[in-house]
Amino acid sequence: MKKMQLTTKIFIGLALGIVLGIILQPNPEIANNYIKPFGTLFLNLIKLVIVPLVFSSLVVGACSMDDVRKLGRIGGKTVAYYLFTTAFAITIGLVLANITNVGGGYTIPADATYEIAAAPNVIETLLNIIPANPLKALVDGNMLQIIAFALIIGAGIIGIGEKGKNLQSFFDSFAEVMYKIIAVIMNFAPIGVFALITPVVAVNGPSVLLPLLKLIIVVYVGCALHAILTYSLTVWGFAKISPVQFFKGISPAMVFSYTTASSSATLPISMKRCEENLGVSKSICSFTLPLGATINMDGTAIYQGVCAIFIAQIYGIPLPMTAQLTIILTATLASIGTAGVPGAGMIMLGMVLHTVGLPIEGIAIIAGVDRILDMMRTMINVTGDAACSVVVAATEGELDRSVFEKTAKAK
Ligand code: ASP
Repeated sequence: MKKMQLTTKIFIGLALGIVLGIILQPNPEIANNYIKPFGTLFLNLIKLVIVPLVFSSLVVGACSMDDVRKLGRIGGKTVAYYLFTTAFAITIGLVLANITNVGGGYTIPADATYEIAAAPNVIETLLNIIPANPLKALVDGNMLQIIAFALIIGAGIIGIGEKGKNLQSFFDSFAEVMYKIIAVIMNFAPIGVFALITPVVAVNGPSVLLPLLKLIIVVYVGCALHAILTYSLTVWGFAKISPVQFFKGISPAMVFSYTTASSSATLPISMKRCEENLGVSKSICSFTLPLGATINMDGTAIYQGVCAIFIAQIYGIPLPMTAQLTIILTATLASIGTAGVPGAGMIMLGMVLHTVGLPIEGIAIIAGVDRILDMMRTMINVTGDAACSVVVAATEGELDRSVFEKTAKAK
């Protein structure tokens, strides 16, 4: 009952924030100066736990696999699900953008300028995953490196058997402390969500949104399609969980990711919801979700696909089939390299555009509405991680179906 109430409160916070945002549209500075700080404070509280949580829960997740073979098997399944769904997501984005002629009828504004950020080098990015200095990785919050370090430590703990148990229980209780802190912070989520969404609505008034409405609609429809097709089907197909149950169970994390536009910040909530509402075992949650929050970005991939076609069309550059296939490949890599923080996907879009020879300045046109796109893509990113955790848990026999009976009874 208490949990239900918090979810409802979060929804109410979101609705009130949108209404106030619309009211404040003529004076967005009021929202920015007086309401946004509460959202920032709330986000800072969540960010405080992200690095310790990801690190400790991944170590626990890895060493709870009993043996390195199981770790490899679950790791393989997880990564395969992530890669396959991401490639499928971009394909949806590309097909939809082509069919709807997303950039058609749009004229480039004269003042479209963009500071081109250097596109990251793929080989360097891959090599950098293994941190030469793991403490620096933790201090800098470099998520890919933190994941690599945690998995290596976890495998090491498995490797020494009994002797590693002390360290394992240290990380276990460390992770528990993080969960506890998050549970307390989450009581403020309705206020946080309210304070985060109000300035977004107030600042992104109709004048910003309307010219790019078609792009926004195509990205939103693409994301919705992906959720309905890919997640519903895989969750039903592998775990026999009805899509309605799935989306209902993960909805608090979805609302939260929509308002914060950050997969990392949503991680604590996804972990709790997957475990409590969807019955995924703790060890699968603590393995798949931190990994997914960093490498699995289906929404970002859809966005990158649609935006690449949008930019090609408005600049009148034809994109042959080979170029579109290249986009599938690079956007998959780009979405893996995208950090789970607001706006990161737009920077990585530069890499995709660069690879197929599209003008990177095109990003300047999208930048004005990027936050609106970011919220939706992040929501899909987070939902995809949850779908994977359900699928992997089901195939490993680690899905506790009694949670659904409990929720049915609670009604
Ligand atoms: N904001 C997204 C996320 O945190 C990443 C992106 O910008 O695409 O998942």
